[in-house]
Amino acid sequence: MESICPIDQRCSHQISALLQPPSPLHVQEYFEQLISKRQCHGIKVKQDGVFGKGVFAETDFEEEQLILKDQMLVGAQHPSNKIDCLVCGYCFKFIGSIEQQIGRKLYLKTLGVSPHYGCENDSSDEDQDNHYVKNHHNPENGASSSSTSTNPLPKMALQSLMNGELSLPYSSRFPLPSVVSCPGGCEEAFYCSKSCAEADWESFHSLLCTGEKSESLSREALLKFIQHANETNDIFLLAAKAISFTILRYRKVKASHLRKQENTAPSILGTSDLSLLLETWKPISIGHKRRWWDCIALPGDIDGSDEAAFRMQIRELAFVSLQFLKEAIFDKECEPLFSLDIYGHIIGMFELNNLDLVVASPVEDYFLYIDDLTYPEKKEAERITQPYLDALGDDYSVCCQGTAFFPLQSCMNHSCCPNAKAFKREEDRDGQATIIALRPICKGEEVTISYIDEDLPFEERQAVLADYGFRCRCTRCLEEEP
Ligand SMILES: [Zn+2]
Ligand SMILES: [Zn+2]
Repeated sequence: MESICPIDQRCSHQISALLQPPSPLHVQEYFEQLISKRQCHGIKVKQDGVFGKGVFAETDFEEEQLILKDQMLVGAQHPSNKIDCLVCGYCFKFIGSIEQQIGRKLYLKTLGVSPHYGCENDSSDEDQDNHYVKNHHNPENGASSSSTSTNPLPKMALQSLMNGELSLPYSSRFPLPSVVSCPGGCEEAFYCSKSCAEADWESFHSLLCTGEKSESLSREALLKFIQHANETNDIFLLAAKAISFTILRYRKVKASHLRKQENTAPSILGTSDLSLLLETWKPISIGHKRRWWDCIALPGDIDGSDEAAFRMQIRELAFVSLQFLKEAIFDKECEPLFSLDIYGHIIGMFELNNLDLVVASPVEDYFLYIDDLTYPEKKEAERITQPYLDALGDDYSVCCQGTAFFPLQSCMNHSCCPNAKAFKREEDRDGQATIIALRPICKGEEVTISYIDEDLPFEERQAVLADYGFRCRCTRCLEEEP
């Protein structure tokens, strides 16, 4: 039986207004404003009827030149990655110290903390039943493999690493910002600075914090929501951030409108204002396209004849998640945001613009530095560091991994012979996306990136791209087409 969302019915008029594609003029204004705030000014977003949006060079770029640094709209670290890397919850820089990063990771592993934050040890049977709702980014590529600790270290040593009593040789060459706790007291979110903590609180976290000062309606419901997302699909955490972001912006914009009107017009207090909601919803209205259950790729092991049932199950899963979220942070004035239709579109935006958030680890740099030392310094340093490296095993270099929505990067079209790529340089140490030129790009040319491994043969590329909902017609594909 298909669940019926009462808000879908009650707010159908507002929902269709929210889902109306913004006018080309509004879209243009939005991107121009965004580009003017970014570090780079040599690009322009153009719209056309066939390919939707595209990013074009407004100036010549040399090979390897930076084209764009794109600040995310909403992003989150994968829950499973939180054991490996302690990063700022707002800008995603590594924080603490080399010692703290190493000590914390080894300590959490000795405790056997599961990626789901200690709820339980996943049974593998359950994984098989739920394969299609698993966290859609599997943490296999490099993250928490269980086959590591060959050489367990005493807990005491790990604790003194974490609390700063023990320092490792040459670690002062890799300084990290010290850890700032969440002002709401949740002990789940940490920051690189007070300014990041405040920015996160104002933009997302005040409604989603599970601490004492949380502004949610029910911390209990919030915990249930988070647990459900961790057990099924962490894409719900991103969707919750997008909703929280919109509600908080709505309240802010409304308060400032009220202040302006105070002396001139009668108060509009208490009335929900659709135009205000539309204004605060704008950044998301530009990104979303289709509902999650309509756009999610059918897993390879599900038969085509079961497709309808599969899509229905995905919709039901979203509905369950939404009920927890609604209980946790509902706001009457923003009611349409809690409809299943809107929730499905927000999740779909992350599904389709599945952009990786990656930040390189300073722990990796540290061990590479030690490895590059020469005798006798190297021998002396390794005497202390080697047991930790052995205990970390292959996991020593795990980077911060997550998913984010980058508004400008998501406008870049795919090519199998792209002229640009997402590439973090040595100095790019936070969660922003960095796009650099792969070859010289001339003014007026479209900037393209590859969504897939472009070394794959023609048929395989097309098969992977089909999950993105299109057939590639780049110059290379046209040449290679049989
Ligand atoms: Zn930060
Ligand atoms: Zn918090």
